[in-house]
Amino acid sequence: MKLENKKALITGASRGIGKAIAERFTAEGAEVWGLSTREPEDLPSRAEKAGGKLHWISADLGELETLEPIIEKALKESGGFDILVNNAGITRDNLSFRMGLEDFRKVLDINLSTAFIIARTVGRDMIRKKAGSIINMSSVSGLHGNGGQANYAASKAALVGLSKSLARETASRNVRVNAIAPGFVTTDMTAVLPDKVKETMLEQIPLKRMGMPEDIAAAALFFASDDSAYITGQVLTVDGGMFM
Ligand code: NAD
Repeated sequence: MKLENKKALITGASRGIGKAIAERFTAEGAEVWGLSTREPEDLPSRAEKAGGKLHWISADLGELETLEPIIEKALKESGGFDILVNNAGITRDNLSFRMGLEDFRKVLDINLSTAFIIARTVGRDMIRKKAGSIINMSSVSGLHGNGGQANYAASKAALVGLSKSLARETASRNVRVNAIAPGFVTTDMTAVLPDKVKETMLEQIPLKRMGMPEDIAAAALFFASDDSAYITGQVLTVDGGMFM
């Protein structure tokens, strides 16, 4: 068990990648606080499976001004987090010249500003305790760009800058900050893409399959655990070799 006696806050844990991370972390002994807009319907069975070590925070990350008090309350109730995974994210895809400012801003708010606010709030406590691991969910879109995703790619590239800057600010207090850049992963986010787009993506993946949420959860476990104790300010690409 790599996360025994650890407490983790994971945003966007109701489904997809966040759910897989929450399941992997509880299986490794962590007590997990999941956050999403609404409580997931299967919460009772998931909490039971996690041996009562799963708690839930219902909050709309889009309401930035209410976020800090919500996280402060969770900090108090939990006694502080050892691990933070800023995973929640959205897309509002369109070609740049057709994209409205509202869609640009919304994606930046949810994907980037919330990560800053939560990392700042949880990070203060980690700094005091001189221990912690923060993991931000970036994307290969942020590293390489992607047509139709100017807002999303900008938010994910900015998460890399945020992670590296935070890593520099907190390293002397033994708080590590890293990012994961998933490639093309089977979740609700990619399920909406047309089959033609999925086929084209698949052709570009040397390992010849889409990623599974569990592939990303394994990378998150690495950054969360002491296996990565000497690693901070890094971005781990998990994309089946697409951008090697
Ligand atoms: P998903 O759509 O399946 O799940 C997103 C999660 O974020 C859900 O739990 C949802 O409730 C939560 N969320 C969204 N908006 C929210 C809000 N306003 N308030 C509270 N919670 C909110 O997505 P996923 O595919 O699991 O993606 C998870 C993360 O991984 C995202 O940051 C995404 O950008 C990133 N990512 C995904 C892929 C992929 O191929 N699926 C690739 C690269 C990066």
